[in-house]
Amino acid sequence: MQNKLVLTEVFTNALPVLEVLEQAGFEAYFVGGSVRDAMLGKDVNDVDIATSAFPNEIQALFKKTIDVGIEHGTVMVLWEKETYEITTFRTESTYQDFRRPDSVTFVRSLAEDLKRRDFTINALAMDKDGCITDLFDGIDDLNHQVIRAVGVPDERFGEDALRMMRATRFSAQLGFDIEEETVLALKKNTSLLEHIAIERIQIEFIKMCLGQFKYKGLTYFVKSDLYEFCPGLNKEALKKFSAIEHSLDNERQIWATYLLLDEYVPNQINAFMKSWKLSNKLIQQVASLFQSVNYRIESSADLLYIYRLGKELALETENILHYLQYPSDPEAVLFIYETLPIHSKQDLAVTGKDLLKLTNSKAGKWLGDALKHIEEAVVLGKLNNSKQEIITWTKQQALIPETDNN
Ligand code: ATP
Ligand code: MG
Repeated sequence: MQNKLVLTEVFTNALPVLEVLEQAGFEAYFVGGSVRDAMLGKDVNDVDIATSAFPNEIQALFKKTIDVGIEHGTVMVLWEKETYEITTFRTESTYQDFRRPDSVTFVRSLAEDLKRRDFTINALAMDKDGCITDLFDGIDDLNHQVIRAVGVPDERFGEDALRMMRATRFSAQLGFDIEEETVLALKKNTSLLEHIAIERIQIEFIKMCLGQFKYKGLTYFVKSDLYEFCPGLNKEALKKFSAIEHSLDNERQIWATYLLLDEYVPNQINAFMKSWKLSNKLIQQVASLFQSVNYRIESSADLLYIYRLGKELALETENILHYLQYPSDPEAVLFIYETLPIHSKQDLAVTGKDLLKLTNSKAGKWLGDALKHIEEAVVLGKLNNSKQEIITWTKQQALIPETDNN
């Protein structure tokens, strides 16, 4: 791998930003994941910029800036409809409780900034000509596909225990091995993960599970016992999960699949997901997927099932079935969905109001029940979705209260 790169478009678009900083007498570089991924020939979506300019100096140089965390040295700059995060070179000297420090010290030296970064492959900087600064042999580690802590691994994990999760996550994303001393430090410091906010652990855990090389990353995660410091995770379920070669598409599929593999029962799901502080919306979606997969293991995908679940979750259910090596049929599910007479209550030719007007009655439980029956009959093709036919049918079925108007 060379130590000079030809800049791709996402970098050249950002060059004027670097130039503004340099013309004002500051240093400015591309840093972090964007440089690592460019070196690996991967697509880069957004670039991070680091500079010797202090936040107030960055703000003074650009017309449009947004303060996104000035105390940490990050200013967002709007340039040609793009936004760039520009971060002042900094050191993180005071680590308390094995967590990311609350305060940082701004410095003028790139070397100091690179020193505080987690892994050698993430500690590369690239200037406007594509020349790479590589103070910790990160290029060598990229060549050898190795994740190695910058400096003494044991100290680095002691400073910020999240780095252990990040090591396993990068292994899962890149398919890299973790260097021996870094693995030893990982094994030694796992319990420090207790000090890290679960929301931050969850982000890394999910990225790891979505990683193309999840087997590799999860194997480190399990073998080092790091998993023991994550709520409710079970070794055997994780092993099963990691050994499957198919991939899942998103976070809710990951959780639902994990819970199925760990043989959870429905009433345990909420507590598990709450312990990860997941949102109620996500909990609901996971519970739906969990239930739908179990349903589909026993039954075929029928009209009402697909209607109730909706297209997205119904297709995701098929993906999980495939993952778990059960028969699945996404094409059939899609076909059935597309031929459904209606896709939601709003598509019905009558509304609650229509029924009230027709019957001259007060709203009550009967109304919800009647609409539900109508909806089902329409979905199942027993009743045409036309106002007149629905009204006639509703009367025949005695779904509405008797009134003088009937
Ligand atoms: P991704 O492609 O997932 O965004 P990334 O390497 O860009 O990967 P980020 O979390 O965006 O990861 O962080 C950007 C950079 O900041 C990293 O490449 C690394 O240099 C540094 N960094 C992030 N988190 C830490 C940490 N906990 N300790 C030290 N350095 C870190
Ligand atoms: Mg990044």
